Amino acid sequence: MLAPFTPGWQTTEVNPLVIVKSEGSYVYDINEKKYLDTLAGLWCTALGGNEPRLVAAATDQLNKLPFYHSFWNRTTKPSLDLAKELTETFTATKMAKVFFTNSGSEANDTQVKLVWYYNNALGRPKKKKFIARAKAYHGSTWISASLSGLPPLHQNFDLPPPFVLHTDCPHYWRYHLPGETEEDFSTRLANNLESLILKEGPETIAAFIAEPVMGAGGVIPPPATYFEKVRVLKMAYIYHYEHGFTNVVLSNTIQVQAVVKKYDILFIADEVISAFGRLGTMFGCDKYNIKPDLVSLAKALSSGYMPIGAVMVSPQVTEVVYSQSNKLGNFSHGFTYTGHPVACAVASESIKLYKERNIVEKVKSISPRFQDGLKSFSDSPIVGEIRGTGLILSTEFTDNKSPNEPFPPEWGKFYFLFFISYQISFANINGGIGAYFGGQCEKQGMLVRVAGDTIMMSPPFIISPKELISKYGNALKATEEKVNSLK
Ligand code: PLP
Repeated sequence: MLAPFTPGWQTTEVNPLVIVKSEGSYVYDINEKKYLDTLAGLWCTALGGNEPRLVAAATDQLNKLPFYHSFWNRTTKPSLDLAKELTETFTATKMAKVFFTNSGSEANDTQVKLVWYYNNALGRPKKKKFIARAKAYHGSTWISASLSGLPPLHQNFDLPPPFVLHTDCPHYWRYHLPGETEEDFSTRLANNLESLILKEGPETIAAFIAEPVMGAGGVIPPPATYFEKVRVLKMAYIYHYEHGFTNVVLSNTIQVQAVVKKYDILFIADEVISAFGRLGTMFGCDKYNIKPDLVSLAKALSSGYMPIGAVMVSPQVTEVVYSQSNKLGNFSHGFTYTGHPVACAVASESIKLYKERNIVEKVKSISPRFQDGLKSFSDSPIVGEIRGTGLILSTEFTDNKSPNEPFPPEWGKFYFLFFISYQISFANINGGIGAYFGGQCEKQGMLVRVAGDTIMMSPPFIISPKELISKYGNALKATEEKVNSLK
C-alpha cells in the first residue's frame, strides 16, 4: 500500500501499526494490543469506535438504497434531510444551502470554485485571490494543499499557485513581540492582513479562509480579540439603569473579521475539526462569534463512520449563484458520491446523537478536567507550551521554555522492541523529542499525533480524561529522563 504522509511512502516498508477493531475511546491492533485513541482516529470519531446507532443507520440505508446520485436535479431523501438538518443546526449566521463532498479537502476545493463562480457571476473577474494563514491545514488536494500554510505540503509539489496568499499565523506564544499583549498582537495581525489586502488590491481578493482553532498546524487557539466581533469605536455611551449614560472608552483593537468584511471579501470558516462540539460549542463560529459566508465541514459530521464533507452557503452567495446561473451556465461541479445516501444517513444520525446526548454540555463538563489536568504539566522543563480549548490540545516541546530553542532533531531517535503474543514487531521511530514522547505513549497503550516536537490530541467526546492524563504524565517523565540523559 502507498500510504499518505508516511516516510518511504510504502506502509509495508515502515512496519505499520495495523488497527483492526475499535471500542469506545479505544482501538486494538492486529496483535490485540489496546490503545487509548486520543486523536479520535484523525480528529473525527467524536462518538467513539462502536456506536450501534450509527452502524444501524448505515445498515438500514444500505438495505434501502445503497446508492443514488445527486446530479441533474435528482437526489435522495437522506441528502435532503441532512442539508435541512445542517442549515437548522448552524446558527452563528444564517446558512441557506449545503453542497456535499466526500472529504474536507474536497469541501475546500469546492469553496474556491464556488467563490470564483460567484465573482464571475457578479462581473468581478479580477476578484479571485485567496488569503489563508501560515500553519493552516485545509487538506491535501491541489487547491486545499495550496490554501494550507505548511511547507511540506508545498515543497516538491510546486505549490501554492499565485492566487493563494498567506498571512500571519496567529500563534501568540511563538510570534508576539516583547511586551505585546494578546490584544495588541491580534491588532498587529489584523493590520498586517489589511496591508496585504491593500498591497494586492482589494478588488483582487476574493476570500479569506480560517480554521476557528488551527488544528494540524499545531492546535493554535486564536489570541484574544483575533476574530471577535468588532469593537472599533473608541468612544461609546453605555446606559446604566442607576446612573444614566456613561461615556466610556472601548478598546481600539481591530479584528481580522472586521478587515475582511471591510473589503467585501468572503469569510470561509473551515470547521472540519472544530464543528459538532469539539470546542464546547456546536461550532467554532459560535465560540468566537464568527459570522462566515461559507463553512466547510467533514470528520465529526459522520463521527468519521462514513466519508462525507459539506459546504454551507450563505443566502447572499446562494442568491447570486441562483440568479446568475442561467447567464453563466450550470454550476458544473460535483462528485459521483456527492450526497451519498449512506454517508448522509449516518451523518444525520450523528447530528441527532449530538443533540440527544447534549454533546456540547458534555464536552463543556469534561474539558476543564482534560485541559487543566494536562496543563498542570506546563512547568516541565522540556515543555515550551501546552495549549488548547474544549477537547483539543497540543504540547510543544522546547528547551528553556523558549519558542526559539528546539531540541536537536536526532535526540528522539530510538529503537524499541515490543513483544506481543507470538509476534515480534520492530518499530523504528526516527525523529525528535516529540517522536520519543509519542513512542512512550504508544508503549503504554495510547496513540497521539506527533508533528515534529508538537504532539496533539482531540479525543472522542466520550473520553474519560483520568487515564489519558496519567499516561501522558508517565510519557512526559520518561521523555524528561531521556532529555536529561542527553544533556
Ligand atoms: N480542513 C481541516 C481544518 C482539516 O483539519 C482537514 C483534515 O485534517 C481538512 C480540511 C481536510 O480534510 P480531509 O482529510 O477529509 O480531506
